[in-house]
Amino acid sequence: MSAETGTATQIDCDLLVIGSGAGGLSAAVTAAWHGLNVIVAEKEAVFGGTTAWSGGWMWAPLNPLAQRAGIAEDPDAPRTYLRHVLGNNFDEAQVTAFLDAAPHMVAFFEKNTALQFEGGDKIPDTYGDAPGAGTGGRSVIAAPYDAHGLGDLVDRLRLPMRETTFMGMTIQAGPDLAAFMNVTRSPRAFIHVGRRFSRHLVDLATHRRGMQLRNGIALVGRLLRSAADLGVDLRTSSPAVRLLQDGGAVYGAVLAMPEGEVEVRSGRGVVLAAGGFPHDRERRSRMFPADQEHLTVATPSATGDGLRLGESAGGKVDGTLAAPAAWCPVSLVPFPDGTVGRFPHIIERGKPGIIGVLADGRRFCNEGNGYYDYVAAMLRAVPPGQGVVSWLICTRAFQRRYGLGIARPAPLPLGAYIRSGYIKVGRTIAELAGNCGIDPEGLERTVADYNVHARMGEDPAFGRGSTLYNRYQGDAGNKPNPCVAPIERGPFYAVKVVPGSFGTFAGLKTDASARVLDANGVPIPGLYAAGTDMASVMGGHYPAGGINLGPAMTFGYIAGRHAAGATEYEDARGAARPKVHA
Ligand SMILES: Cc1cc2nc3c(=O)[nH]c(=O)nc-3n(C[C@H](O)[C@H](O)[C@H](O)COP(=O)(O)OP(=O)(O)OC[C@H]3O[C@@H](n4cnc5c(N)ncnc54)[C@H](O)[C@@H]3O)c2cc1C
Repeated sequence: MSAETGTATQIDCDLLVIGSGAGGLSAAVTAAWHGLNVIVAEKEAVFGGTTAWSGGWMWAPLNPLAQRAGIAEDPDAPRTYLRHVLGNNFDEAQVTAFLDAAPHMVAFFEKNTALQFEGGDKIPDTYGDAPGAGTGGRSVIAAPYDAHGLGDLVDRLRLPMRETTFMGMTIQAGPDLAAFMNVTRSPRAFIHVGRRFSRHLVDLATHRRGMQLRNGIALVGRLLRSAADLGVDLRTSSPAVRLLQDGGAVYGAVLAMPEGEVEVRSGRGVVLAAGGFPHDRERRSRMFPADQEHLTVATPSATGDGLRLGESAGGKVDGTLAAPAAWCPVSLVPFPDGTVGRFPHIIERGKPGIIGVLADGRRFCNEGNGYYDYVAAMLRAVPPGQGVVSWLICTRAFQRRYGLGIARPAPLPLGAYIRSGYIKVGRTIAELAGNCGIDPEGLERTVADYNVHARMGEDPAFGRGSTLYNRYQGDAGNKPNPCVAPIERGPFYAVKVVPGSFGTFAGLKTDASARVLDANGVPIPGLYAAGTDMASVMGGHYPAGGINLGPAMTFGYIAGRHAAGATEYEDARGAARPKVHA
């Protein structure tokens, strides 16, 4: 029994990490490699958080994989790009800390741990017209991982997101996804998909889950393996409920474990990495616009605990960001079992032959731009007081070729989504509009105007296909513009989308060492934040895919190194691993 706090049990360690997503596990693995005795406390019965549901891409400019691939990059270009896109939200010290450490973070993990990467050689930054925009090579993703390598830990690994997987099978953007999209068109694609799917069926039969991990869950699997290899004490069902503080310094936290409250004392402090506040309705109502329509796709356990704990120790949440969350358009999916899923619209918006319209039938943006931009445009375009909704409109032929929301392309069946009302159908554009509640004349006018130019592959209204990012998201086989095709022959389909998010951007203000700052901008001794518990270094903007996980991994790495007192980068010539605890 602790005399000070009255809790039943006391455990000592060097560093306590709260949350087991990218931010937390990166900090834990880094600190453990540097010799610290680390505990990871996870609130849920499974590890991985939203990270395990994610695409897994990490924006890490100048990373060693790009260098090995020979992708030439002006070393100042990423900073120029961020300065331009972030504008008033550009924080020199934070951006410098991120850009300096990101390549070392990748090098550290690939050299010293089970976390190995693949490069995103062809993935361009979102705003190709901005100075310094990257044309490829700035992102990395965890290499696919066979979950058999986790041993018993696999039982405490989160399942991937139902909505974005196929029967629990994760599909990786790039050649893997392309094979699934072309399964009926190419024998090679057919063989690839056949192999992947039959192996998945065996895994389902033997382990009741997919074992061939890709995307965010591969990242978590590899980080968990690394943490276990380094002796990190990994605890599930252990929510942190309050911090331990002495004279302002944080020296641990109380965990509400199944057996009762446990006081964890951590000499080097605490890392808050509890996944931000996407499910904290109260804070959302203060910080989000039009909150009533908001559908986040982040893990339900991300209820803002980290922010509250940080505030209890004197930390401040940064409310000055351009947007409080990482917007993405989301549709509600009525599943046959009566549950309702949330589908993030990431891929099909960029393909040729789809437009997004408001209730008056008008388009409002270049639909092929980033998910953040689609929602930001929707929020700007809908008059105050009206529900913020839009519809993605296409033909049946488009749906069969590219999919529409969760309704996958041919040869997968579609009928259930039409019967459930997820997909609205019309033989004519006017009929479709009527079935959606869109102004029929407005939609007819929009589609007619769009088609005049789309037949020539042009989109003078919004410039679809004008950026490298647009074209990367499009269909290279569609000529002359990979992002534009007319919407002419019915039946016509629509799905309703509303503002949602991958998680939050607004978080605790930190310094370049990931230390939480108090109201005077002074670091609170022993308190770090990483991942979405810290205010996004991107200042509430979304300059590229991977700008959540890249910084989460990097600032977790920075926090772990700072807590361990590391000075020299581990990938520097001659740097040796510090002495490790027994
Ligand atoms: C479908 C989808 C695709 C995405 N794709 C990408 C992508 O490709 N690239 C990218 O950069 N971003 C992507 N994102 C966003 C990204 O996944 C998140 O921003 C990121 O995973 C957040 O990491 P985190 O470490 O902050 O939190 P999380 O991964 O959510 O981990 C936080 C953990 O803390 C736990 N926790 C909460 N409260 C407590 C408590 N009191 N005590 C202990 N534990 C607690 C939670 O249960 C959770 O497990 C995607 C998100 C989604 C949903």
